[in-house]
Amino acid sequence: MNDKQKEYKSHHKLIIIGSGPAGYTAAIYASRADLEPLMLEGFFSGPAGGQLMTTTDVENYPGFPKGVTGPELMEAFRSQAERFGTKFLLEDATEVDFSSKPFKVNTSDKSFTADSVILSTGANAKRLDIPGTRDGEFWQKGVTACAVCDGAAPIFRDKDLFVIGGGDTAMEEAMFLTKFGKKVYIVHRRDELRASQIMQDRALKNPKIEVIWDSVVVKVDGDKVVKSVTIKNVKTEKETEHEAGGVFFAVGHEPNTKFLKGQLKLHDNGYIKVEPGTTKTSIEGVFASGDVQDHVYRQAITAAGTGCMAALESERWLTEKGLI
Ligand SMILES: Cc1cc2nc3c(=O)[nH]c(=O)nc-3n(C[C@H](O)[C@H](O)[C@H](O)COP(=O)(O)OP(=O)(O)OC[C@H]3O[C@@H](n4cnc5c(N)ncnc54)[C@H](O)[C@@H]3O)c2cc1C
Repeated sequence: MNDKQKEYKSHHKLIIIGSGPAGYTAAIYASRADLEPLMLEGFFSGPAGGQLMTTTDVENYPGFPKGVTGPELMEAFRSQAERFGTKFLLEDATEVDFSSKPFKVNTSDKSFTADSVILSTGANAKRLDIPGTRDGEFWQKGVTACAVCDGAAPIFRDKDLFVIGGGDTAMEEAMFLTKFGKKVYIVHRRDELRASQIMQDRALKNPKIEVIWDSVVVKVDGDKVVKSVTIKNVKTEKETEHEAGGVFFAVGHEPNTKFLKGQLKLHDNGYIKVEPGTTKTSIEGVFASGDVQDHVYRQAITAAGTGCMAALESERWLTEKGLI
């Protein structure tokens, strides 16, 4: 054991990998059940606290009628888990071995074993590198990657909104945004959409939606918030500036599962496969919660709900196996 590892036990009943709403909720339940979990909160993979650390107001998390900021909400989750004895380590899991019992979990300079593991490493919304959309520019000031999360904000009301993408998610986001925007434009680089026929039909028959074909957004501009987008037709190379109140990336998500390196079953899109209605993965004793196993809802409340399920299922499994 190296010096840096001395303050942490090398064996744990439960290790939770990932620190968003799913991981912290799992930690609250598991520590209250005396499982003394170790949580790897992540470091290079993103901020501890997960995706909500990158947003301002969260208005749909129950219990906060006036809203709460993402970082405040995550700090409250973390303190609640800490109160019951969760140990935290600000590092990424770089490698796991689920073929041995106990399981092995490594960070860049530490090695741990665990009887049970909960994976809650989330999924990052992909963004395109368009001038004006980066952090410190208009990201979260009219540019976002989640219509369900942000669409109802006052800055988007009765404005022209632009959705970038051509798949089912783009159609869904565009339809959702018609509730708030004056008009919703789907900007798509080709002359046909990737979305399923049923989703295309639904979106395209909505009078508030228009597709801007063969086009890409090349610039987003504004003052305090987004005010315009410049769109280039990729066939004619012509650029046109439009008034805009918001830009929504809908170009997919990337689940954080690379470090698993084939240790358990994943869906073709990289999300962890779980037994329907449970958080059980293809490896007994390993559970998955939150966005890393959910390519449908991807919300803080659903992540927290499955975090609770994972902790309860892990505890039951440990009991059944006589490990606690
Ligand atoms: C800008 C934005 C605004 C949003 N607003 C809302 C909203 O208003 N309401 C709402 O309900 N939802 C919102 N969402 C969605 C919500 O944030 C997610 O659904 C939720 O955070 C998913 O929680 P999670 O615990 O599964 O994962 P995440 O929050 O993604 O957390 C995963 C954590 O795991 C860490 N991690 C990754 N890999 C490793 C590794 N190898 N080792 C250790 N740690 C690792 C990551 O760094 C991260 O900290 C928003 C998302 C974004 C991006």
